[in-house]
Amino acid sequence: MRNRTSRRRPYCLRCYAPLKGELRKGARTICPRCGFVNLKVDRAVFWTKERRLLELESLAKGVIVVFMVVIGLLMLWGAGNKMSFGLGQGWAVGFPILFGVLLWETASKITRWKPYLRVGLVWSILAAAPGIGLLLVAMLPELSPLARAVLAATSLPWFGVAFGIWRLEAACARWRARRILAQGPS
Ligand SMILES: [Zn+2]
Repeated sequence: MRNRTSRRRPYCLRCYAPLKGELRKGARTICPRCGFVNLKVDRAVFWTKERRLLELESLAKGVIVVFMVVIGLLMLWGAGNKMSFGLGQGWAVGFPILFGVLLWETASKITRWKPYLRVGLVWSILAAAPGIGLLLVAMLPELSPLARAVLAATSLPWFGVAFGIWRLEAACARWRARRILAQGPS
């Protein structure tokens, strides 16, 4: 599984130096190379506690919070103007919240394992959804061949983006593995 690297070789979460068997002694291990206090409880959650990556995660989450507040205010404004009261309102509220949660969880993967969460897969499916919709519309019998061709062609970029996101997740996983192994057992 994705957690294999952490199980195979305990390493310092800040500098990736190997921690040889010292983890068994207790809940915390001080790194012999950089002095970082590695907590056992962190090891289960984080793949890294490198300062720059922690800062990047905080920054990303800050941007997400601002983004969600703006969306929330826009929706309040929309509700104030009686734009969408009705059956669709549950979706109108729920969808941005789900989107926000997904963004948040994606940012969490900057430093955390979260092996249960395939954010790349979820984003790929979301990106492919409009392409699938366009293809379905292209199958409508009343459309002209030209309209079908245009719709089918328009669906292709969505699948391209979906494929790109899927490959990006794989690249991120490789980058993470290389980073962990970069220091190597010394
Ligand atoms: Zn260290």
